[in-house]
Amino acid sequence: MQQKISLKLLPSEAVDESAVKRLIANNTGKKPGSVSGYHILKQSIDARAKTIWVNLTVHAFIEEPFLQRETQTFNFKEVSKAEKKVVIIGAGPAGLFAALHLLEQGIKPIILERGKDVRSRRRDLAILNKEGIINAESNYCFGEGGAGTYSDGKLYTRSNKRGDIDRILNLFVRFGAEDSILYQSHPHIGTNKLPQIITAMRQQITDCGGEFLFEKKVVDFIVDTGKITSVKTADGHTFDADAFILATGHSARDIFELLNQKQILIEAKGFALGVRIEHPQQLIDSIQYGPHSTGSCGQTLPTGQAGTPKGGGFERPYELPAASYSLVKQVNERGVFSFCMCPGGIIAPAATAAGELVVNGWSPSKRNNPYANSGMVVQVELEDVIQKLPTGQAGSKIKNDPLAMMHFQQMVEQNCFNAGGGKFVAPAQRMADFSKGITSSSLPACSYQPGLYSVHLKEVLPGFIYQALAKGFIEFGKKMPGYFTNDAVVVATESRTSSPVRIPRNYDTLTHPQLNNFYPCGEGAGYAGGIVSAAMDGERVAGRIIQISNQGA
Ligand SMILES: Cc1cc2nc3c(=O)[nH]c(=O)nc-3n(C[C@H](O)[C@H](O)[C@H](O)COP(=O)(O)OP(=O)(O)OC[C@H]3O[C@@H](n4cnc5c(N)ncnc54)[C@H](O)[C@@H]3O)c2cc1C
Repeated sequence: MQQKISLKLLPSEAVDESAVKRLIANNTGKKPGSVSGYHILKQSIDARAKTIWVNLTVHAFIEEPFLQRETQTFNFKEVSKAEKKVVIIGAGPAGLFAALHLLEQGIKPIILERGKDVRSRRRDLAILNKEGIINAESNYCFGEGGAGTYSDGKLYTRSNKRGDIDRILNLFVRFGAEDSILYQSHPHIGTNKLPQIITAMRQQITDCGGEFLFEKKVVDFIVDTGKITSVKTADGHTFDADAFILATGHSARDIFELLNQKQILIEAKGFALGVRIEHPQQLIDSIQYGPHSTGSCGQTLPTGQAGTPKGGGFERPYELPAASYSLVKQVNERGVFSFCMCPGGIIAPAATAAGELVVNGWSPSKRNNPYANSGMVVQVELEDVIQKLPTGQAGSKIKNDPLAMMHFQQMVEQNCFNAGGGKFVAPAQRMADFSKGITSSSLPACSYQPGLYSVHLKEVLPGFIYQALAKGFIEFGKKMPGYFTNDAVVVATESRTSSPVRIPRNYDTLTHPQLNNFYPCGEGAGYAGGIVSAAMDGERVAGRIIQISNQGA
């Protein structure tokens, strides 16, 4: 018989196959030895009580032979001679998953990507980190795989479309991700593994006859009677197609400017801005798991008695993941929240142009760096930019400017770059000093490679952002005792949390209201936030193009 069973186990039991089988037998009243195997359907860690528990839902095989887990299969078609072709601008998750979906239906994707392939891109990232020199076309946001390639690779989303999410996760597994991402409550892949997965996707696309072109920056849209007929790239080439997917991400400011200049409708959009905060990972582990759990970060935890209370150790070595957190608090009538937390991670310089400082975070698959970093951001709306900034511009002018939020974002990034003194050295302050309004006399060690410079961030960040964060940190210290500490460092600025612009699209057709073969897509257009949701939006748009193509066929 096959049965779905929920189990609550000690961490030491959860990694021991025979212990899990024994528990399944106990739970079902069968003899030990009658369980031939199981698939994990869901796995989560519950560290709220004194004892840390692992919750497992398993599909168990009892008194019958074990069968391997069935993964979804995908049928990518040969498209080199396909009648229909679609130009996809941008090879981030939205663009890549759109391309893969088009292949399944025999439509040829032509991907135009301004950046380089993952391997060449890695060299540009090293130069940025070590020498403080940025390549405006190849960086943490631009290049093969988009902003998601050199990231933590967290694969969770607020979307509850389970079927669509499963498809995306299964596609990641199809291209090389471990199948544990299919059942973990907070799956992630890690920067060291993502590039190979992205390369395998590209290989699939080109093997099927799709085109995948690097260093092809789109600089113009050729419009004729309510349609795009072709796009031009910076190197003078022109690409025509039946449809055009714009998946250029939240950092393609030149694309927003181009659309605005061509009077293709775009709108200003709220986003969140703040800082990235870094604690020693051991401190976060001890807060979340208990005071004696400080061997985490991918190292084995100390041994101890089975079932001893939280912090008391474990029966046998077990790798609990580096602990994470998620914090949110309403302060001064606006939300302050943690964003893109990277346990065992590194803070990265994520700007896309010289003279701007942006930070973000990544971590390797083992999350075994000694630091825990997270964005700590405050929601910003157009009203804030109109009311709170001494811009010298009339409010009504800003209100009607679809690029107002982007300019605000850019201004804060430039302030931070200047405050750091150049070469992407980031302005920073210890956490308690930040809230108390004291410039830090020294800064703790930090994972951010270009380096830190001690600055009173009140002088750098917009006042309403600083005030909300300063209070928010104190509140977070009450929720997580030990969190509010001068052992943590605040690094500015975390500004590319989502797009500062929305590119409108028709609810049903998913096309731009002025152009009936133009599909704004993914995070840059304002329809996604994160890898999985961007990938889902790519599939959604591709699905719509497929539908239209089938109707016309
Ligand atoms: C360091 C870092 C860590 C992150 N960590 C996570 C995480 O752990 N989990 C998560 O869910 N999300 C994470 N994110 C966010 C995530 O990467 C994005 O939400 C996601 O990549 C958005 O997908 P997208 O396809 O819409 O756009 P993008 O990934 O931004 O891709 C856009 C692509 O378009 C290209 N492009 C831009 N302009 C042009 C042009 N004119 N011509 C041609 N090509 C162009 C760019 O080069 C880029 O490759 C992280 C982001 C960063 C920067």
